[in-house]
Amino acid sequence: MELHDLTVIRPLLEKHGFHFSKSMGQNFLIRDWVPRRILEVAGITCDDGVLEIGPGIGVLTQELCSAAGKIVAVELDHRLIPVLQETLAVFSNAEIVSGDIMKLDLMQLLSDQLPGLPLKVCANLPYNITTPVLRLLMESERFAQITVMIQKEVAQRICAKPGTPEYGAFTVFTEFYASPAICFDVPPDCFYPRPKVTSTVITLHRKTRDISPEDRDFLFSITRAAFSQRRKTLVNSLSSLFAGKLTKEELQAAVAACGFDPLVRGERLSLRDYLTLSSYIKTIL
Ligand code: SAH
Repeated sequence: MELHDLTVIRPLLEKHGFHFSKSMGQNFLIRDWVPRRILEVAGITCDDGVLEIGPGIGVLTQELCSAAGKIVAVELDHRLIPVLQETLAVFSNAEIVSGDIMKLDLMQLLSDQLPGLPLKVCANLPYNITTPVLRLLMESERFAQITVMIQKEVAQRICAKPGTPEYGAFTVFTEFYASPAICFDVPPDCFYPRPKVTSTVITLHRKTRDISPEDRDFLFSITRAAFSQRRKTLVNSLSSLFAGKLTKEELQAAVAACGFDPLVRGERLSLRDYLTLSSYIKTIL
């Protein structure tokens, strides 16, 4: 079924009595080059188990079914389940799961549906939950590669360099878990209905790290504090986090001992700098 053709999509949705919901971030792809190019960068092989979030009517899912070993597609809108059953009927390797990706038990889903398979994610994400979904997927540390279409400005934040306005705590979080890369932009006219924003496809290749959960949480408490008030110096931001434990002078000395200017702002430091700083602070606490 040519799911990127509006003359096919409209009657299909009408037949199922479907109406678009803004709150669920529903914008369906209507250009065939887009799922094709997503597949080119997603690095999916016939051995892979692939998780898709928000399949919509299945335009990307169909491509995934031809490339991967097995697909699990989680769709929140139960009105789309019968549509997907129809559009994916010819594929025997797709499992449609009705539910909210933020609420279901991800680990359970993966072990039930994709046991023993090398795992990847490929999705045109619902934009209202982009950051929490990416956080969940990266924190699970289960996916060798995550390929997602997201809002262009979120993609720029994820791939930002230290010292730029887009650089923030989520950039550092992503860098911790993955190597991010921008692949290509997708203009609003590739969707129905047409969104206001431009989209970007990015890939996130998993990094493996030798760090304890306690040290990781400590690192993120520091980066969160460092970015919570961007105009403050790093030392001032950390003063509240370590109130009662370290004085401002001790923090200044710690920042200097790690080789940074005591007046530096948090937005100047890279993930590597934060790793250095957090292990140093741990030794003086
Ligand atoms: N992948 C399709 C549709 C993208 S639109 C395409 O490219 O054409 C985003 C899809 O995510 C919609 O189908 C929407 O219903 C679904 N969705 C929104 N919130 C969700 C959630 N929390 N869990 C799972 N799916 C969700």
